[in-house]
Amino acid sequence: MNDDTKIKCPYCGTFVDKTEESCPQCSAPLKPNKPAKQQTKILAPTAIAALVCGILSISLSSAIIPGFILSGIGKKKAQEGYDAIAANPDTYTGEGMLNAARITSKVGLILSIVWIPIVILYTIFYIWALNY
Ligand SMILES: [Zn+2]
Repeated sequence: MNDDTKIKCPYCGTFVDKTEESCPQCSAPLKPNKPAKQQTKILAPTAIAALVCGILSISLSSAIIPGFILSGIGKKKAQEGYDAIAANPDTYTGEGMLNAARITSKVGLILSIVWIPIVILYTIFYIWALNY
């Protein structure tokens, strides 16, 4: 017997042709490993970009407008990542990174707002100091 063309049924021990979907003897399914092999998950496509935008929105929050823009992009990319995982839960993973992206984007947005009065006060003081 050639082992390349026949496999042993794990349930009843009968040697069955490899092309069979199930055992002709006991009708047990013979390809249980196939779905398991496809369960290797990959990172959601936007996860890294979302996290980078979130971190940059914090870093650039003192420039206000770039902080707002990057925060908005980070939040959008994080949502796209969540949607990708929801649509293909067997393919994509990376919820932890998306959560981090969402939090950093939120912090970047808050810091950008906090910086507005600081920059305004600084500008007023600067103009006042120039005219003094
Ligand atoms: Zn069998």
